[in-house]
Amino acid sequence: MRSGEIMAKNGNKESAQNDHLCQMLADLKVKTSVLEVQGGERDAMAKTTAELLKVYDENVTKLTCGPVMRSDRGSSEVVDEISESPIDFDSVIQDFKDRLVSAGVNNGHPTFFGFISAGDGTYPSALGTFVPANLATYSGAHLGNPAAVQMENRLIKWVADLFGYPAGHAGNISSGGSLATLTALAVARDSRELKAVDFHRCVIYCSEFTHYAVQKGLRAVGMREAILKKTPVDQSYRMTAAALERQIKEDTEAGLLPFLVVATVGTTMTGSVDPVDDIADVCERHQLWLHVDAAYGGFFALCDKMKQLFVGVERSDSIVVNPHKGLFTSGGVGVLVVKDGKKLQHCCSLEETPSCFKGSSVFSAEHVSPSELSFELTRPFRGAQMWLPLKVFGVGVFRAALEEKLLLARYLYGKLKETDEFELPLEPELSVVLFRATAPPVVDINNFNQQLLNDLISDGKIFMIPAELHGQFYLRVCVLCFRTHIEHIDLCFSLIREKRAHLWKSFRLDA
Ligand SMILES: *Cc1c(COP(=O)(O)O)cnc(C)c1O
Repeated sequence: MRSGEIMAKNGNKESAQNDHLCQMLADLKVKTSVLEVQGGERDAMAKTTAELLKVYDENVTKLTCGPVMRSDRGSSEVVDEISESPIDFDSVIQDFKDRLVSAGVNNGHPTFFGFISAGDGTYPSALGTFVPANLATYSGAHLGNPAAVQMENRLIKWVADLFGYPAGHAGNISSGGSLATLTALAVARDSRELKAVDFHRCVIYCSEFTHYAVQKGLRAVGMREAILKKTPVDQSYRMTAAALERQIKEDTEAGLLPFLVVATVGTTMTGSVDPVDDIADVCERHQLWLHVDAAYGGFFALCDKMKQLFVGVERSDSIVVNPHKGLFTSGGVGVLVVKDGKKLQHCCSLEETPSCFKGSSVFSAEHVSPSELSFELTRPFRGAQMWLPLKVFGVGVFRAALEEKLLLARYLYGKLKETDEFELPLEPELSVVLFRATAPPVVDINNFNQQLLNDLISDGKIFMIPAELHGQFYLRVCVLCFRTHIEHIDLCFSLIREKRAHLWKSFRLDA
C-alpha cells in the first residue's frame, strides 16, 4: 500500500472511532442532563425544601415546651442502601423530616444546659449555610469569589480587633474549635522550627481543664510523643502562672524543650478563665508561644463588664473562638487568628507557586487566599453564617444576649446558694454553674449526686452533664443557648430542688 492509502485507511479508522466516541458522549449527555435541574422542577424542589424549613417553626414551638431529650432517639436505625437508581425528591426530603427532627438531644433547646450549647443557630445563621451553597460556590481562593473572601477577612479582622490584635494578623474560618486549635498548634510548631527528632523533648503546658482538642490536635500535627504537662490550678480552677514558670524552669534544666502554653478563656467544664496576662509574662520571659483557647468564652469579650477577664489576650500569639457557641451560629464555624499572619501563611502554603501560574493576571499574588491560610483547599463560605446574623441583628443584640447568659448563671448560683441544700464550689466567672447536693447522713455524696443527675435528665425536661472536680462528682449547668431566659432557669432551679427533695426522702425511707 502506498502511504496515501495507509493514511486514508487510518483516517477512516480514526473517523469511525471518533463517530463512536461522539455517539457515546451524546448518550452520556442525555443521561447526565438530570443533574442540571430545570426551572419548573427546581421550583417544586425549592417548595418542598421550604416546607421542610417550616419544621423550624414546629421545632421552635417544641423547643419551648417539648422535651430537650427526645425519647425516640435511636429508634430508627438508618439502614438505607445507597442505590444505583434515583428516588423522588419529595420522599427523600420527607425522610429527612421524619428522621432528623425527632432524634437526639436538642442543644438548641432553652433548657439544654449540657456541654456547651452549640450549633443550633439563629435563623439567619442557618440561612447563611444555604445561600453560599448556591451562590458562592468556591471560596478557597480569592479568584474564586473575591467578595466572599473579603467578607471573611472583614469578619476575621472584627474578631482580631475584639481581642486587641494589631495589623499583621491573619486567620481562617474553619469547622470549629478543634480544627482551629490543630492549625494553631501546627503554626506554633513551625514557628519554633521544631524537628521530629526533638518532638519527644518538646513540652506543651496546659491545665487539667484544657479542652482535649489540644491533645487531639497534637496527635494530628505529628507530635504524639511530645510531653503535655498539666500545670496545677488554683481554687477557681485557673492555671497558676507561678507554678507554670516553675515547671518551665525545671524542664529547661532537665534538657527538655518547652515551647507552647495553652491558656483557656472559659474552660468547658468550669467556665474558669486562666490569668492570661500573668501567663503572657511567663511566656515572654521564656520565649514560649502563647495560644489562647477562647472557643467557649471568647465572645463574652463583647460585654463591657467582662473586659478585665481578657486582659493579656492581646499579648498571645494565636487565639481560637467559636461563633457556633457565643455568636449562636449554626454548627461548623470556628475562627483562628494568628498574630503574625506570615507564620500562618508559612505553615499552610507552599513556598513555590507552580511556574505555569506565574505571569498570569488571573493568578495574581496580590491577594492571599483562604487556602493559603488553612489546611483546606475547597471549602464552604462559612463566613456567611456569621455575616448574615451580624448584619441583620447588629452586634448590640449579641452583647445583650451574652450579658443575659452571664446574669442567668449568677441568678441560678444565687438561688442554689440561698437554700443551704447545695455545695457550690465556684462562683461562676462566665456562664457555667457547678453544684452538688448535700447528701443524707451516711449516704455517699457522689452516689447521691449521680442519682440526682439521672433523675434530673430522665424525663427530658432539662439536660445537664456531670463534672469531676478533685475526684468528686458535681453537676454542671452551662447557660449558652440564645433561647434560654429567666423562666427556664426558674424551671431548672425548681426541678433541681424537687428532685433533690424526692431523692433525699427515698434515701431516708431506705435507711
Ligand atoms: C467547644 C470547645 C472546643 C472545641 O470546639 P469544637 O468547635 O467543638 O471543635 C475547644 N475548646 C474549648 C474551650 C471548647 O469549649
